[in-house]
Formats: sequence, structure tokens, C-alpha cells
Amino acid sequence: MSSTQGQTIRCKAAVAWEAGKPLVIEEVEVAPPQKMEVRVKILFTSLCHTDVYFWEAKGQNPVFPRILGHEAGGVVESVGEGVTDLQPGDHVLPVFTGECKECDHCKSEESNMCDLLRINTDRGVMIHDQTSRFSINGKPIFHFVGTSTFSEYTVIHVGCLAKINPLAPLDKVCVLSCGISTGLGATLNVAKPKKGSSVAVFGLGAVGLAAAEGARIAGASRIIGVDLNANRFELAKKFGVTEFVNPKDYKKPVQEVIAEMTNGGVDRSVECTGHIDAMISAFECVHDGWGVAVLVGVPHKDAVFKTSPLNLLNERTLKGTFFGNYKPRSDIPSVVEQYMNKELEVEKFITHEVPFSEINKAFDLMLKGEGIRCIIRMDA
Ligand SMILES: [Zn+2]
Ligand SMILES: [Zn+2]
Repeated sequence: MSSTQGQTIRCKAAVAWEAGKPLVIEEVEVAPPQKMEVRVKILFTSLCHTDVYFWEAKGQNPVFPRILGHEAGGVVESVGEGVTDLQPGDHVLPVFTGECKECDHCKSEESNMCDLLRINTDRGVMIHDQTSRFSINGKPIFHFVGTSTFSEYTVIHVGCLAKINPLAPLDKVCVLSCGISTGLGATLNVAKPKKGSSVAVFGLGAVGLAAAEGARIAGASRIIGVDLNANRFELAKKFGVTEFVNPKDYKKPVQEVIAEMTNGGVDRSVECTGHIDAMISAFECVHDGWGVAVLVGVPHKDAVFKTSPLNLLNERTLKGTFFGNYKPRSDIPSVVEQYMNKELEVEKFITHEVPFSEINKAFDLMLKGEGIRCIIRMDA
């Protein structure tokens, strides 16, 4: 039993006081975990685009002051009432969406869209009592997607924690808690390319490169990367991407370019940009008769997907996925094992590292589009 169990912990957290303003490292109070909650000591966290979107709060509901962060690795400090599958000392990855194991979605083999713990970006409080566990001088600081990992300690619902192999290095596998699993699962769980097949990946950011990594693991022989930024192509080779298409280099639609390159279309495509035109291209570039397109990127709320129904009648399949169809508690531990077994390469996604005191540098790097993942070390 830890000496801090049942006590409020004072620790450092990076607080976003206002939209778009640099985070401020503050001393915060973190209340003990309540029913079905777990208090976690975060050791490493990384920055994902979603943190930046909600920090900028353009087109989103502004919820401030808030502690952002959702890709991370840590160790359980203490558990609240009713928590039986985790105990102090367990190594965990927080996940922005959860698995209660009791709702219809959790009971379905086909879904990971838990009714109770599905991502809710507007909620800044814990679901148990609709209050925050974070405060500064009595003033509550809001949570973010149930994780708030930009804090030395955080409180998370047990359903949003994947218990992983304690031998897995947390400074590496922390990136599996969001973006990398999203892309990897889109390919391995949803697109399911066969060995020797062709796969097109739209968007070569972290999620798209993880989708390419999934295609490499599946044994695809051609992986075609599509991106408007030619600078990404060199880096993408490390992820098994064999050919590149920059839509800006052609006058005709990219789906026609890909159809010509592949004798009628790719076997699979994975769309990771969220741009509606790319989504339509990703669907129309798959081969008739067997092609499968998987949408991962989140579009603008007013976007409309327009294609001829004949494209479907000609036996093309269009699918969408959320968090790579992984159930956080049931499946993420095995993704960590894929890394431990050297099937999945994680190191190549990690391009930068900064101490927690310099967390704003990670934001600068992402805003400049530099690198893939920046690890933030909490003890430095
Ligand atoms: Zn993320
Ligand atoms: Zn559920």
C-alpha cells in the first residue's frame, strides 16, 4: 500500500488556462480516486494532434482551465472502491475511450464504441460524481478525454486503462495509447490486406504511417503513400511505403492515377487525413470486385461523402473505424506484446523528446509539422 493512498497528492501539472496560450507548469492537488477510478503516476506522455486541436479550441467547445494529454504510460499509485483488476504498481496505458465490459458495445465482438466510456471531448469532469479530481487552491481544473496525462498524477476511470506487460519500456509503448494503435488497427483489424496485396495510405502523419506499418506487418507488397507534402516521403520509406503519389503533381484525380498504377485499383486503402476529397478518392481508388477502403480521419462536421452508388454495386466496400477497432482493455495489451515480440516497430515513430518543464516545445514542433511523436519525460 502506498503512503499516499487515500490522500490528496500535490504535484506538477501543465495547465492550459486559455485557448492557444502556452501551458503553465503549476502545482495542482489531485484528489484520491473514487468509485471505479484509479490514480496513476504518469512517467511518459506524448503529444497527439487531438491535444493541439482542443488547446487551440477552434471550432470546439472551449473547456478551460484544463489539463490536456492522452497518450501516455504510467504506474498505478492507488485504486478506488470497486476496482478489482488493477492494483498499485501495475503498468498501464491510459486510453481516451474506454471499455466498461458491460454495455452492448463491450459485449459485442464487433464494436469498441463503449456506451459508458466512449470519448467525450466536452466533458471535463469524472463520470462518477460529475466533479474534477484536479484543483489549484480549491478552484477546479478540468479533465480532458478522461485521461489528462500532462500531470505527474492523474485520475482515470478503470475502464480507460490498459494493463500492460511490466517489462515493456513505457517511454516507447506510451505512443500506443492513441495515434499509432488507431492507424495500425485500421489496417490490421479493418482493411485486413492479404500477403502480397497493394495498399494505398492517404496522409503520412503519425496515424497514416502506423497504417503503413500495419500493411508492412500484413505482408503487403506495394504500399502507396499519398500526401500533399513531399517532405514526408523520405521518412515514410522507413514505414514500408514503396511508392508515393503527390496529388499536386497530376491534373487528373488521384484515384485515376492510382488505378493506372495498379491495373484497376489497389486492394485496400486507408484514409487518415479527414479531408472529404481524400476520403472519396480513397474509396474510388480501390479495385472493383474486392477492394476495401477504410476511413479513419475525422472530417469537418458539414462534410458530405458523394460517390456513385455504382462504385458500391461493383463490389467495392467502404468501412469506417474508431481507434482501429481495438477495445482498450482487451486488445491494447496484445499490441504491446506485438512490439515486445519485435513484430511491430515503435521506435521509428519517436522523433523527439523533451523534459516536462519544456512541454511547450512539443507543441511548437507539432505546429511546425516537424517529426512524428515527441515524448515528454515527466521526471525531467
Ligand atoms: Zn491522440
Ligand atoms: Zn462498455
